[in-house]
Amino acid sequence: MAERIGIFVAWPYANGDLHLGHIAGVYIPADIFARYHRLRGHQVLMVSGSDAHGTPITVAADREGVSPEEIFRRYHHRFLETYRRLGVSFDLFTHTHTENHVAVSQDIFRTLNERGYLFTRTQTQFYCEYDRRFLPDRYVEGTCPYCGYPNARGDQCDNCGRTLDATELIDPRCRLCGRTPVLRETEHFFFDLPAFSDQLLEYIERQAHWRPNVQNFVRNFIQEGLKPRPVSRDLDWGVPIPVAGYEHKVMYVWFEAVIGYLSASIEWARHHGDGESWEAWWRDPSARGYYFIGKDNIPFHALIWPAELMGYDRSLNLPYDIPASEFLNLEGQQFSTSRNWAVWVPDFLDRYAPDPLRDYL
Ligand SMILES: [Zn+2]
Ligand SMILES: [Zn+2]
Repeated sequence: MAERIGIFVAWPYANGDLHLGHIAGVYIPADIFARYHRLRGHQVLMVSGSDAHGTPITVAADREGVSPEEIFRRYHHRFLETYRRLGVSFDLFTHTHTENHVAVSQDIFRTLNERGYLFTRTQTQFYCEYDRRFLPDRYVEGTCPYCGYPNARGDQCDNCGRTLDATELIDPRCRLCGRTPVLRETEHFFFDLPAFSDQLLEYIERQAHWRPNVQNFVRNFIQEGLKPRPVSRDLDWGVPIPVAGYEHKVMYVWFEAVIGYLSASIEWARHHGDGESWEAWWRDPSARGYYFIGKDNIPFHALIWPAELMGYDRSLNLPYDIPASEFLNLEGQQFSTSRNWAVWVPDFLDRYAPDPLRDYL
C-alpha cells in the first residue's frame, strides 16, 4: 500500500543567501529522501518556506535602509532560484508573510489562549526614548558582563558565545541611534510549556526509532524543567497578536515559524483543488512526518512544536522523526564545493542510513 510521507524542511531566514551548510545539511538530504519515496510509489508532500519575520530580517532592513518586506522578498526569490537550479523538488516553498500563514498562526494562538495555555506577564525591557520604541534583543548592544567584549548583542555575545539577557549588558546602547535606552515595563504573552511536560515525556519515550542521542538530549531537557516561553514582542513586523488590546504586538518568530509546516501543507492543498487533502498527511495516524532541520533547532521541533500541536488539536500528527544535521553549524567555515560534497556524501550515508533509510536499503 502506498504510504504517506510528509517531508518538512527547515525554514531559512530570508535575510541572506543560502550557504553550503543549508544545502548539504538539509535541502539535499530532504530532496533525496523525497525522490526515493516517490520512486517507491509513496505519496510524498515536501514543503518549506522563507521565514519572513523576526529581528534578523528587521535588523538587515535597518542596515540597508529599506523595508523588511523588501529584504524578505529579495531573498525569498533568490531561494526559489537556488532550489530550481539545484533541482530541489519541493511541492511548495512558500513564506510566512502569506494571509494563510497569518490566519493559521492566529487561530493556533487564539485557541491556546482560550484553553489557558497562554498567560500574560509584565516584563522590564529596554526602550529608546529617541526612537520611541522598545528594543528587542538584537536592537541593544553593550559590553559583555562575562568577557568584556564591547559589541555584545542583547541576546548573545559573539565573542564568548554566552546567551545574554539584554538587561545584563554593561553600558547598553540603542543599535539604531547609539543613545542609552531606559527600562520600561511591557506586558507579554507566555506559552505554558511546563503544562505539557508529562505528555512530552510520554511522546519522547514512544520514539524508539529516534537516534538515542537526540532522544536523550530531549529527555534531559524536559527533566531539567521546562520554562514558560515569551510568545509576543514589541515589533511592528510579524504576525499580529489576535487578542484585543495587544494587536500592536507581534508573535515571537520561534512560535509562528514552526506553524509554517502546517500552514504550508494547507496552502499546498488549496493550490491543488482539494482544500482538505492536506489532512491525509496530518490527521491520518499512519502518515509519517519527517523534519529535516539543523541540530541547533532540535528543541523547537521535538518539544515546542509538538506542545503547540497538543494544545491546539489532538488529531494532528506529531513529528515522526527529526533527522537533524550538524551542517548548519558549519556556517563561516570555508569549503570548496567539491570538498564539501566529498564531506557530505559519506556523511549522508552515515547519518541517514541508520535512521529512516535503513528499513528500505
Ligand atoms: Zn562575552
Ligand atoms: Zn535609539
